[in-house]
Amino acid sequence: MQQTDFQNLQNMVLQAPIGICLLDATTMVAELLNDKFLEVAGKPRETIIGKFYWEPFAEVRELYEDALKNVALTGEPYYANEVEMTLIRNGREEQVVVTFVYNPIKDEKGIVVKIAVWVVENTIQAKARNEMGALNKKLTSSNLDMQTVNTDLSRLNSELLLSNKNIHLLNLRLQESETDFKRLVEQAPVAILVFRGPDMVIDLVNQAMLEILGKDASLIGKPLLEGLPEIKGAPAVDQLFHVFQTGEASDGNEAPVPIKTNGVVETRYFNFSYRPLLDKGKIIGVMDVAVEVTAQVLARKTLEANEQRLQSILDTMAEGVVIVNAAGQPTYANPMAQQIMGISEEQFKERDYNDTKWHNERLDGTPLLREDHPMYVVMRTGQPVFDQEIAIVQSDQEKIYISINAAPLRDGGIISFTDVTSRRKQLQQKEDFISVASHELRTPVTSLKAALQLLDRMQGNIRPEVLAKLLGQANRSLNKLSDLITSLLNTNRISQGRFPVHKTTFAIGNLLRGCCQHILSAGSHEIIQQGDLELQVTADEQQIDQVLVNLLNNAVKYAPQSRRIILQVEQQTHAVKISVTDQGPGIPADKVSHIFERYYQADRSGGELSGLGLGLYISAEIIEKHGGKIGVESKPGQGSSFWFTLPL
Ligand code: ADP
Repeated sequence: MQQTDFQNLQNMVLQAPIGICLLDATTMVAELLNDKFLEVAGKPRETIIGKFYWEPFAEVRELYEDALKNVALTGEPYYANEVEMTLIRNGREEQVVVTFVYNPIKDEKGIVVKIAVWVVENTIQAKARNEMGALNKKLTSSNLDMQTVNTDLSRLNSELLLSNKNIHLLNLRLQESETDFKRLVEQAPVAILVFRGPDMVIDLVNQAMLEILGKDASLIGKPLLEGLPEIKGAPAVDQLFHVFQTGEASDGNEAPVPIKTNGVVETRYFNFSYRPLLDKGKIIGVMDVAVEVTAQVLARKTLEANEQRLQSILDTMAEGVVIVNAAGQPTYANPMAQQIMGISEEQFKERDYNDTKWHNERLDGTPLLREDHPMYVVMRTGQPVFDQEIAIVQSDQEKIYISINAAPLRDGGIISFTDVTSRRKQLQQKEDFISVASHELRTPVTSLKAALQLLDRMQGNIRPEVLAKLLGQANRSLNKLSDLITSLLNTNRISQGRFPVHKTTFAIGNLLRGCCQHILSAGSHEIIQQGDLELQVTADEQQIDQVLVNLLNNAVKYAPQSRRIILQVEQQTHAVKISVTDQGPGIPADKVSHIFERYYQADRSGGELSGLGLGLYISAEIIEKHGGKIGVESKPGQGSSFWFTLPL
């Protein structure tokens, strides 16, 4: 140390970005302080220097006066890591986060003579980390097992807090005695090394640095690469030599340095500042002020890896996830959420959960009031909501149903949801079907029952024509019942793909004639057959007959007023197209696309002839199994033309 130019060293120390204030340990009067300290304190120099420390810091006196006193009494340093406090800075109250140390400085007898206050501000970092915390929370309410991830994160968080104890750099305006300065450096909570000469001979090393390096004072007097051979080749070392050669100060951030501890070389990370030491304008050495940030770097790396993991989970999960702020405004929407809602993340961010752009409905179709929306319930009660289904109607889209889980976050909430539209539709169809089917079955059963009761009552003296009529009624009802049951059974077999196709080759005209018979004999409709009736097709004759009967019966059923039904056979390149055209009311455009679905009925009002919504579904399945196509062209008021093709 003797050889080092003190004034110079002090000036170097001045430049580093850490706040320092040196207090007399008995009077607590501030004797020295640097610009960085003033910046963090947000007060003019003259209000602090030469004053009792708590005079300018009255707003935090109550919180820390005892701690400071205790440092003077016990000689133990006091660390405060990322504490939140209200400081009056530049005349205004400000909420800040700071890390500071009350560091005792002892004389050779071990008596605390000074206390150095070292301080750095972490307001921004703390904010950034809170956002990390929010990400961590993103997943807690999803259905995944996030327990482990959470524990990891909170452990990492506390490691981060601890590593902040290592304060960055040192910058001090020293007007005091050389001894005070020497002590301050030696007892500083940051590591300091002073090198001299082109070989970087270690001239001064303080306790904090020796602890980092795991070495003792025998390092003093040795050239750097001799004392610490393992660090040779590290970029931070090259940078050090460069400072000596050029005289340019330089800093390092999270620089990896290999260090040997207990015989093992490990990569550790440092923030450091190198400042050239000048003597009458000539470079004589370099001062290194360093803080080890290994734990912090490793923690951050793990955090980043975790964040990436969480992000990829969010990106790929089958659930939509949306995070809203306290105002109910979405701040995040994962890709699945965007897909389910059919809008981009940006569009999400423009709406709140109760926005008029999406009409929220209950399952019964009534509007879902704002206060009943799961997100609102969560925000109001602070309790999670599970598996609540709602419907959403967006102006230009079909109604969708989603099942929502929602949970509160510290400043907002998280919704995860799945699209249950098709499940709900199927359920609805089943319910509808059951009500239609029971209704359908009841009609012939009632009629059959009536006929049988009459027959029972009139036993023995019944006139033959009445007997014939009642038997006819009973028979028709039974036939209808058996038809209904057959189509039910067919549907079951067909929907499971369990029906064999027995193909034979036959003339299409014969088939058409056969399936028209029952309609012609009823006399209500006229059937006109057109086209290439002699064409031979290879198909399951019985099944194609069933399709034709379905289409013809529908034409009769749904177009009772129009007498004329046209049956057209048309040869195409590789297929034959058969169409059944009526001149009935036609089918509304929005229903056409559903007409071949199971249980679908365009008009639910029922009626004498209505069926189960199965005829077209069964027909479509049969045609598909034959490798053909089926469809309909229809204009409301102008009739419908149902057609199918069979490959030739
Ligand atoms: P169902 O006749 O048992 O209701 P289908 O599957 O045969 O079932 O028909 C489905 C629906 O398609 C019918 O309910 C009816 O609303 C409509 N539809 C079928 N054929 C016609 C047609 N020719 N004209 C108008 N609507 C029809």
